Amino acid sequence: MKVFARLLALLVLLLAAVPGHAALPSPAPGRLSVYFLNVGQGDAALIVSPTGKTVLIDGGPPEAGARLAARLRELVKGPLDLVILTHPHLDHLGGLRAAVKAVGAKRFMDPGFDHPSEAYRDLLDFVGHEVGQVMSPEPNPQAPQTLLTVGLGEGVALTVLWPRVPQESFLANTRSDPNANSIVTKLTYGKTAFLFTGDSEPPTEEVLLQKPVDLTATVLKVAHHGGKHSSTAAFLERVKPQAAVISCGVGNDYGHPSPEVLGRLRDVRARAFRTDQDGEVLAVSDGTTVTLRSTKGTGATSLSGTQQAGSPVALGPIQPTPHGRSGRSTEKEPEPGAPRTRTPVEPPAPASASEATGERYVSLKGSKVFHRESCKTLKRSKNERTVYTSRADALRERRPAEDCHP
Ligand SMILES: [Zn+2]
Ligand SMILES: [Zn+2]
Repeated sequence: MKVFARLLALLVLLLAAVPGHAALPSPAPGRLSVYFLNVGQGDAALIVSPTGKTVLIDGGPPEAGARLAARLRELVKGPLDLVILTHPHLDHLGGLRAAVKAVGAKRFMDPGFDHPSEAYRDLLDFVGHEVGQVMSPEPNPQAPQTLLTVGLGEGVALTVLWPRVPQESFLANTRSDPNANSIVTKLTYGKTAFLFTGDSEPPTEEVLLQKPVDLTATVLKVAHHGGKHSSTAAFLERVKPQAAVISCGVGNDYGHPSPEVLGRLRDVRARAFRTDQDGEVLAVSDGTTVTLRSTKGTGATSLSGTQQAGSPVALGPIQPTPHGRSGRSTEKEPEPGAPRTRTPVEPPAPASASEATGERYVSLKGSKVFHRESCKTLKRSKNERTVYTSRADALRERRPAEDCHP
């Protein structure tokens, strides 16, 4: 019954098509915008919060770097507040250097999953120098059960659902461990939500399904470009997406998106958008309704067959999950749209500076900053380093890093 109610709430506006190559309209103030950028075979999504906070999730493949950088210059005014690399694969990290060079970034987060590729190592060295804070989505040690949530202003929150190392270990022996340990985030604003899944694998979906968290989302960024193994029926049934965005390249070698996934999306009545056919997709939420529109909007993926090319699609609020469904009656479901778990917090506050005697300070070659010797950023760089035995010595040559505040 709820499914039907939801479908009724899904209103299709028949307006004039957006011209194919035109830049999408700028969002009105007070709205949350999510741009699913057209980077070919890869992923890149830009979140712009009502207060102007920006988060870039992935940066597409290397060949998309120049186009991504140009688009970000149009969309972003200052440095990105946060860059998330969901996992260290080239179709997600390849354009990040160009993106950060173009507009700058204050923080960089990735799963912290070891990956031996040169491209990943180079990117870590680059962000180690260019980005103020490099972090992993580790639970706050003071409240290990609390999910890491980044507040983006006006009640918009970005919560990291996976991974949760060291609280829960990385998934291992999967089809692709880097994919399986993709950072999965849920963005919430009022009664609307977005779920970003990176290249999640079925074991990731199983882990998420076992968690006492509300996975419901208005818009789902479909895992792994629509690859057939991910987006299992059980997972989609819980997420209940009203729209699904698939980021993939025209005529890609992988056959993405798979007909199986398109079928499973159809089964849960999710309206599918795909960047290979629709171009850039923009979703704007006012906290109650999400309106999606695309640059091209061929309509070829319209699952109901009623969507006009390029027409905005308005999606209604998330419906409350009926109590007692699927044997989850003991699970306390948060009110739809309410802050999911706990009060949004800024990214983990670095340990406050203490002038502990005997502490050493380290600077990476080529860097203008110095870190505490224990700082995680250092562990993630293979660069040569200079060690200072006193803070005063370090201060003479460099400034304190923003991540560990030495
Ligand atoms: Zn990928
Ligand atoms: Zn991948």
